[in-house]
Amino acid sequence: MMIVMKAGATEDQVQAVIDRIESCGARAHPSRGEEVTVIGAVGDREHVARLGLERAPGVEQVVPILKPYKLASSQMREPSVLEIGGRRIGGEHFSLIAGPCTVESRDQTLTAARLVSAGGASLFRGGAYKPRSSPYSFQGLGQEGLRLLAEAKAETGLPIVTELMDARDVEPVLQVADVIQVGARNMQNYALLAEIGRTGRPVLLKRGLSATLEELLMAAEYVLKEGNPNVLLCERGIRTFETAYRFTLDLTAVPVLKELSHLPVVVDPSHAAGRRSLVEPLSLAAAAAGADGIIVEVHPQPDEAICDGPQQLYAAEFAEYAEKVERAAALAGKVLSNMPA
Ligand code: PEP
Ligand code: MN
Repeated sequence: MMIVMKAGATEDQVQAVIDRIESCGARAHPSRGEEVTVIGAVGDREHVARLGLERAPGVEQVVPILKPYKLASSQMREPSVLEIGGRRIGGEHFSLIAGPCTVESRDQTLTAARLVSAGGASLFRGGAYKPRSSPYSFQGLGQEGLRLLAEAKAETGLPIVTELMDARDVEPVLQVADVIQVGARNMQNYALLAEIGRTGRPVLLKRGLSATLEELLMAAEYVLKEGNPNVLLCERGIRTFETAYRFTLDLTAVPVLKELSHLPVVVDPSHAAGRRSLVEPLSLAAAAAGADGIIVEVHPQPDEAICDGPQQLYAAEFAEYAEKVERAAALAGKVLSNMPA
């Protein structure tokens, strides 16, 4: 249920509604907008209905949320804007997340970070723990990789996006990650999602290879339910019958997710394409379609990359790419946020 407060409702009236929701064992998720406060009540519907909140002081109306995802629903609030190390994403703010697939060495990581920072990136990405299709492939540098990411952040000031695969690594990842990435293969690892939800740290949640948008939103709900409102949804390509490229980038997901949810939507053209030549056109299309951000793989020497070499952009060419993406985002009314606000 969603409790919409009156425009002039007082803080005491809001608190009284929250207390009553929680008195029946449900959880209250207030969202204070510019005009009105809306309180999501998540729990047993019957119990909440029996409270008769429509008659409580300061309440305008009580509306049922019909979707199975409640906190992620666009019914709950206006579009969310997340602030990550001073960079904004959502609403009219666009973020460009760039960096290598994986942290390979000090030189490779710092060179990539310097070049994407100079080229206008908002955040720096790089995997220290890598989900690989083969257990025999390089699995990432682990804690040493996290240390190199910390060094890249100290030098460039760019906030870090890095993947957490296993809840047992949450402590070291939290030391470095400004955004915790949940990989496509872990989208439905509900225990991991709940654990990340409890940390409160922003999350980049990648869509599973064959997940529907409703399944993606239900996965987001696991994080939100723990009281962590900082979720970014990421479209990264899905499996289809087409074999001419790695995955099919589902750009329709961008406006549809924006209809269904208030959460910012990020597009990953690199993993969808699997091929460098496709990354720029897909990025421009995604930005023009209204994505709130792009996460793109960039490497100083892609031809020598340990993984995903063919799809990584040349770091030396990043600035030119970023400028084009910025212009495409402007078509959708968004401004690149790459400086601390
Ligand atoms: C990645 O971002 O490096 C990655 C492995 O992505 P995905 O989980 O979307 O395959
Ligand atoms: Mn990759």
